[in-house]
Amino acid sequence: MQKPETTKILQAYRIEHNMLLYDMAKELNISSAELSTYENEKKAIPYDVKNKIKALYGIELGNKTNEYGLETMLSLFEENQAGLIKQFKAAIQIIKSQENKIKSLERKNAHWIEKGYACGESEYECSNCGETEWRTNISRFKYCPFCGAKMNGTK
Ligand SMILES: [Zn+2]
Repeated sequence: MQKPETTKILQAYRIEHNMLLYDMAKELNISSAELSTYENEKKAIPYDVKNKIKALYGIELGNKTNEYGLETMLSLFEENQAGLIKQFKAAIQIIKSQENKIKSLERKNAHWIEKGYACGESEYECSNCGETEWRTNISRFKYCPFCGAKMNGTK
């Protein structure tokens, strides 16, 4: 089983600061064996021990939700709602503009609608965008010059 990130952080801190299990356990007011079970993820770290670890070493040992940054996000939200709302809105704007780009890239199918006739030319209307074009013959227009739709002849 993979060790969760949280206990790795605690162990790394201990080793980095040349602390034995005994030293850290003493500071935390728990037994070495108990600390070992926490480091080896055999037991969940109780809330009060987590708080002591945070107070003594500045390490925020989380549960799973912390690993996703959800609690950080929530506290940010509580502290600075306006800033977060702005960020969310900016992200939504980016996503929307990307969606619109994709939509515009998807070629629509349309056809020409013959509307009127005058002086040897006919008026053709694009069934997609409604723009009109006067031509003697529209069949050479494979795509609408206004909206880019693929034109499937005249109907
Ligand atoms: Zn068109």
